[in-house]
Amino acid sequence: MSNPYVGRFAPSPTGPLHAGSLVAAVASHLDARAHGGEWLVRIEDIDEGRSVPGADTAILALLDSLGMHSDREVVWQSRRKALYAAAAERLGAYAYPCGCNRREILDSRLGVAPDGAAIYPGTCRHGLAAGRSMRSLRLRVPDSPMDAISFVDRFAGLRTQHLAHESGDFVLKRADGYWAYQLAVVVDDAEQGVTDIVRGADLIDSTARQIYLQRLLGVPTPRYLHVPVVRNANGEKLSKQTGALAVLPGDEAAGVKALLDAARFLGLPLAGTRPATLAGFWAAAIPAWSALLAERELSITSSSGS
Ligand code: GLU
Repeated sequence: MSNPYVGRFAPSPTGPLHAGSLVAAVASHLDARAHGGEWLVRIEDIDEGRSVPGADTAILALLDSLGMHSDREVVWQSRRKALYAAAAERLGAYAYPCGCNRREILDSRLGVAPDGAAIYPGTCRHGLAAGRSMRSLRLRVPDSPMDAISFVDRFAGLRTQHLAHESGDFVLKRADGYWAYQLAVVVDDAEQGVTDIVRGADLIDSTARQIYLQRLLGVPTPRYLHVPVVRNANGEKLSKQTGALAVLPGDEAAGVKALLDAARFLGLPLAGTRPATLAGFWAAAIPAWSALLAERELSITSSSGS
């Protein structure tokens, strides 16, 4: 039997699917289908304050209407909090209570991580100062420069991060009481047996934190592939306002057009094919994805000198 492949698309239901999130959905779906694997959908509504009511069902309906169907029952992170609590428990003394607020962390001038989080100076590592109460739960990261985390991204090549300098001890449970994305995503990917993560490059800087958590929790590290992020003419990431998709479930012509736009953005070699149906699109796109990836993997291998 060939190696199992389990992939996933994990949208946050903060609004309708937009042209940028469609690219991540299409890439993850193509990679799973090209490997003859399973493709799962998980609704990442762990940040309940940002979730928009109804966005989850709208996303699922649109994915279905574009021919992307989850191979298992869809799961919602907001219903899985017991799993995140149990994982935090397993982290033992690596997890510690922190009483600092954002202002205090920014004032330490260690800077801001690529995802906008302030780099934590370690103030509460050895216990809360007298009179301070716990705001968040943080994870201790290694101090030593020897402890760099490296991985080979199937699209972007070799990546190395030093957590001490690039995130510092990061948040597992937030001051508003919600479990943090970094913990929830690692727990879910492990619990669902995900072997391959295909998502937008805006998350590439989160990957080292996730690999570190996987190691501490003793779960396997999946393969990673980060696809470029769609930006508008000003170089900004698309939002639900700027990237709205003009596709209604059931409108096949508009669906094929949105899929072709995503495929073109990904650089799929589809020249000469003009699929008119969803089935035609997927039939052409799956081998085109395999061809694109084979070329990419070759260039990564040769540039790393092996
Ligand atoms: N929920 C995240 C998002 O919508 C994706 C997380 C992931 O794929 O790891 O940006």
